[in-house]
Amino acid sequence: MPEIIFEKSTQFASFHNPLMGGELTTHELELRYDPLTRHQSVFNPGMEGKSQMLYPDTDFDYMRERAEESKASCFLCPENWKENVPRFPQEMISEGILEQNRACLFPNLFPVGGNHAVVRLGNEHLRFLNEMPADLLQEGIQVSLDYIKRCHQYDSNLRYCTMNANYMFPAGASVMHPHFQIMALPEPTTYHKRLLDYSRTFYQDTAKCYWNELLTRERELQERWIGNTGTCDWIASYSPGGFNEIMAVWPEKESFLEWEEEDVQSLAKGLEKVLQLYHEMNLSTFNFSCYSAPMGIKSPEFKCVFRIANRQNVVRHHRTDDFFVQKMLGNEIILNRPETLADWLREKMG
Ligand SMILES: [Zn+2]
Repeated sequence: MPEIIFEKSTQFASFHNPLMGGELTTHELELRYDPLTRHQSVFNPGMEGKSQMLYPDTDFDYMRERAEESKASCFLCPENWKENVPRFPQEMISEGILEQNRACLFPNLFPVGGNHAVVRLGNEHLRFLNEMPADLLQEGIQVSLDYIKRCHQYDSNLRYCTMNANYMFPAGASVMHPHFQIMALPEPTTYHKRLLDYSRTFYQDTAKCYWNELLTRERELQERWIGNTGTCDWIASYSPGGFNEIMAVWPEKESFLEWEEEDVQSLAKGLEKVLQLYHEMNLSTFNFSCYSAPMGIKSPEFKCVFRIANRQNVVRHHRTDDFFVQKMLGNEIILNRPETLADWLREKMG
């Protein structure tokens, strides 16, 4: 594999356009390929300024209305919320739940991974994206890191860890109340594995770490380079996997096992700024995932990576079937077992 190349190609789409009296129009499309995974993104300049059609602005009044309605049934809101949350088995986490000031971590009631926890972020049921202060985010990330380290201590096979979030229902959240979701798994999810595999191949071919090379190239080019907050560097993704995707990389940290308070703080600081910008752009939702090298395995080919992207804004009557699990981790969720589906259809066809 060659070293980092920001590759592009062009495709043309021609048709007689009814919006222009049947005139022959040609759209010139720009395809971009992710320098690591070759993931493709496409840009049609003809769609600039027309994003309202595909991506309507947030209905902030509706968001307030929904928050008011959903508060009553929110299990994270009542004063006695702590008595209602699930608790870990004693042998795993003897305290039952983990706390870090305003952040509290407990098992997910509907897990989609062997160790899948939820972090409650403070008492406020509704926060707009400019109301997520770095100190609150830091507490949430810190308790997530504590959980990941505790899982790995409990069972060293739990080495594939991610910190994640769905924010608001168009991003897959089932509750509005701000929260994170953390996974510590015995095997990587589809996308996590892809990142690890491609990084290893790049390292084998070039004897260099892709992530450090990427930062060096982006810093030189100054096109997508944003800056750093302490121990992590921020860039806009060249070939994004979601709307307005921003990435952070920790050039000195392979896995969460190496993370210290300053790494947590660095993520919180940058994340606060990203969310502020999203709010200024009238956006209201996001998914994020932060990926680590396998815990406890020396991985010079990898560095911790964080990705955040927007989803459809909060508007009336919108939900989604893609959560962080599908969008950021590349795994699908099965709602009806394929075997059950076959049973149902077999009956009809029989
Ligand atoms: Zn709530």
